[in-house]
Amino acid sequence: MNLIRWIKNKIRKYLKLLNNVEEFTEVEGVGLFPKESLRHRDNINTDELMTVNDNRNMTQLTKHFTKEEFDCQCKCGNGDVIISEKLVYELETVREYYGKPMRITSGIRCLAHNRKIGSRDTSSHIKGLAADISCTDMGTRLELVKRLLRDGEFTRLGINRDFIHVDVDYDKPKGIFLY
Ligand SMILES: [Zn+2]
Repeated sequence: MNLIRWIKNKIRKYLKLLNNVEEFTEVEGVGLFPKESLRHRDNINTDELMTVNDNRNMTQLTKHFTKEEFDCQCKCGNGDVIISEKLVYELETVREYYGKPMRITSGIRCLAHNRKIGSRDTSSHIKGLAADISCTDMGTRLELVKRLLRDGEFTRLGINRDFIHVDVDYDKPKGIFLY
């Protein structure tokens, strides 16, 4: 079975459970959303969600990830960049098997923010194709790397002391790089 279709169906099921709605709109490059709107979180059981946040104005992309988690941290609004649907679906699949929180420490970055934190202009974060997942101990690192490679379709990882970088930037070489 086509993996993407399988994941999309799975996510559709989650969204149905969370929202009790039947109709969905696919936003190109972002994901599936209930037809009426990009919904608020008020009617979602937050116990099930990774992020418990007082700000209710969040957009749930998948069962465990919100759009806001991937937003540029300088609060610029991301310009024209949207987070890759493929990236989020792969992360959601991994998260589902992993069964524990995966905190995104960086998603989209505008060029200015990317430069400010000392990253190269070629960074996949600028294109919305990358995410960094918080990871500070060796046991977690082992489990996450294993799952990212096995349960997700990631072929490009970066190992940092405090996080694991993943991206779906297929123009770049496959492999695991170090910072
Ligand atoms: Zn920014």
